[in-house]
Amino acid sequence: MDRLPTVLCIGGHDPTGGAGLQADIETLAAHRVRAFTLVTCLTAQDTRNVQAIWSTPIDAFRHQARALLGDVRPDAIKIGLLGSREIAVAAAEIAAGLDAPMVLDPVLAAGGGAQLSDTPLIDALRAGLLPQARLVLPNRAELFRLAAADEETAAAREVLARGAAAVLVTGADAAAGSGDDQVSNTLYTANMPPREWNWPRLPGVYHGSGCTLASACAAALACGTPLEQAVDAAQRFTLRALEQAEAVGAAQRLPTRLK
Ligand code: PLP
Repeated sequence: MDRLPTVLCIGGHDPTGGAGLQADIETLAAHRVRAFTLVTCLTAQDTRNVQAIWSTPIDAFRHQARALLGDVRPDAIKIGLLGSREIAVAAAEIAAGLDAPMVLDPVLAAGGGAQLSDTPLIDALRAGLLPQARLVLPNRAELFRLAAADEETAAAREVLARGAAAVLVTGADAAAGSGDDQVSNTLYTANMPPREWNWPRLPGVYHGSGCTLASACAAALACGTPLEQAVDAAQRFTLRALEQAEAVGAAQRLPTRLK
């Protein structure tokens, strides 16, 4: 390729820069991948929690997309916080119009506890986005909101049955309350046995680890890296960003992706 690979990031703005589009841009820059961005929502938040969320008016969101995609073609797509059912539906239409692998981070709640989704949004995500995803990265709590099954393997199989090509179930949320000293992430695909990774659980609480991991996967896919290798490299990148995290505010530490 005679230019940088590109990823279209569809997500929200987090003023702390720990999560959301800033996390995506930093992660992609660290991989020498260019970010295109469509803003789904603004948020008011600090390192403790999300306080408020304002969806981009749907006409403005569609106008952003029309202008951008009338001109450029991304090599991969990364979808994060959507903010409303209408935006989820529009994001599904955008993905369907592009011939590029899509990484879906189904952001349903903030690490600080705030709800970032409702039933209509989750239904739209299930119907329109899961079937198109090359990779979905739910944590365990998100997995059990996306699927009816209440056991991990069955729930992951349900997501695959909806058409997603692969599911990486991340375990940081489960490890946090359990006293485990390991975080276990498992990749499920239709044809291969599940593959599990175990990582040391770092002390402290982090904001934006999921955005970092999903964007790092999208960066690798945009570069043409095969899926399992992309997922492996993205986890290593995320661990390094968390090891270097800084306590910028009062609560959750922010990953350092550009160091
Ligand atoms: N705000 C935005 C814009 C996000 O995209 C996300 C997660 O993707 C969050 C907040 C919550 O991040 P975390 O769960 O890491 O606290």
